[in-house]
Amino acid sequence: MAGTVQSGERKPLPASLVGALEERFADRFQRGEAVLGQHGASETHFATVLPDAVVFAYSTEEVVALVKLCAAADIPIVPFGAGTSIEGNAAPIRGGISLDMSQMDRVLAVHAEDFDCVVQPGVRREELNVHLRDQGLFFPIDPGANATIGGMASTRASGTNAVRYGTMKDAVLSLEVVTPQGEVIRTARRARKSAAGYDLTRLYVGSEGTLGIITEVTLRLHPVPDTISAAVCSFDTLGGAVDTVVQSIQCAVPLARVEILDAKQMTAVNRWSKLDYPEAPTLFFEFHGSASHVAEQVETVKMLAEANGGGSFGWSNLPEERTKLWRARHEAYYAAVNMRAGAIGWATDVCVPMSRLAECIAETHADLEGASVPATILGHVGDGNFHVIFSIDPDAPAELDEVEAINAKLIERALAMDGTCTGEHGIGIGKQEWLVAELGGAVEQMRVIKRAMDPQNLLNPGKIFVL
Ligand SMILES: Cc1cc2nc3c(=O)[nH]c(=O)nc-3n(C[C@H](O)[C@H](O)[C@H](O)COP(=O)(O)OP(=O)(O)OC[C@H]3O[C@@H](n4cnc5c(N)ncnc54)[C@H](O)[C@@H]3O)c2cc1C
Repeated sequence: MAGTVQSGERKPLPASLVGALEERFADRFQRGEAVLGQHGASETHFATVLPDAVVFAYSTEEVVALVKLCAAADIPIVPFGAGTSIEGNAAPIRGGISLDMSQMDRVLAVHAEDFDCVVQPGVRREELNVHLRDQGLFFPIDPGANATIGGMASTRASGTNAVRYGTMKDAVLSLEVVTPQGEVIRTARRARKSAAGYDLTRLYVGSEGTLGIITEVTLRLHPVPDTISAAVCSFDTLGGAVDTVVQSIQCAVPLARVEILDAKQMTAVNRWSKLDYPEAPTLFFEFHGSASHVAEQVETVKMLAEANGGGSFGWSNLPEERTKLWRARHEAYYAAVNMRAGAIGWATDVCVPMSRLAECIAETHADLEGASVPATILGHVGDGNFHVIFSIDPDAPAELDEVEAINAKLIERALAMDGTCTGEHGIGIGKQEWLVAELGGAVEQMRVIKRAMDPQNLLNPGKIFVL
């Protein structure tokens, strides 16, 4: 499937670089077909673009060595975490080295008394939470895939908990970064706040590997709440479900999670996860706090749901029931794509101010009802963010055209509402024109920063914007 890849120029790896990498990394410098394919493929519809080689790093020192060798040979480096990004963010479109960080996967320190931890970038979010479980702490950011912390920091990821606990921009306290010149810097100390100079932490968070390679991350953690209650509630209409969320937020209910799934998405979830929920617009909720505080939150939300055509709440209070519920939500992407045999996924995400969310979802739903390509709506509606997942036939170019037209209309609608073309997936190669539509001249300032920090255009070239 073609997508909008601008591959630009590729330069073959010079023999001297190959020799140096073989010597430095031995069998962690790889050029086999399977490993190149794995690092060039995308989770969604983008065409596979192979790197020239893959290097698996074990340490910051190794990343420094790689950067210096590649800089001398003028060969690009594309950092790679788990490869689950949606907008072709880790695709090596100009070839070069795919730098796989997944083996830098140690939790270096947990400071329980300060509610933070220091991890290597290849640690995956689920493994981090297993590590923290015995200490009564958790890390809340949970994209649907089991992504790496380095990848999540680099895409400014979020997930179902963002409405209460924020996104990676809130979770990252400090970074160790290898610059395109091979210098190792730390962007901040562990203090909860700092006014010390430019906020480089937040510059690197969301920079999609274009400015530096993250080799260590200090993360903010949270205590596991006393009481956790999860529930599912179906509604007569999609509008009723959205209104319940908007009104709950307006009533200052501190929802921990609230996810919307339209009727088609519920059909897909039932089939994929072997569940039997009503196939109607549905909200998945989670409430955190003390027992009395949770009871208060539940009462308010139930009242609002009832007034908006919601049915009864189906509770999942045992940890294993909650895990089943949220696993079904996290698998919703695969459920939607696999509703159609042989289909591939085409996913988009927008985010709008809460006051415009109901209108934005209603208009988008109407577009999807009139489309010939199957599509579902689901999302982290508590912060105005939702996704559309299309299940497309990879051999039907007309479907790609139709989906691109619907996506364009959706993004134009979100921008007209003062929203954004991506709440959490980033720009990669898929949303570059929309970044310009959204931020105009600010994109030129981003280019100024990129040119100043990476004048050689060594790191993940061609992403976010073309220089
Ligand atoms: C089923 C499914 C559901 C998803 N749900 C969500 C969701 O709810 N919320 C959400 O935000 N995203 C979601 N995503 C997208 C994806 O999981 C996130 O974008 C995630 O942050 C990517 O992490 P990764 O480890 O896979 O990174 P990769 O895909 O490997 O890389 C992503 C970007 O980060 C850069 N990068 C990786 N590691 C480093 C490093 N150490 N230093 C510098 N740059 C680096 C890469 O070059 C690339 O630009 C979903 C994806 C799937 C497949």
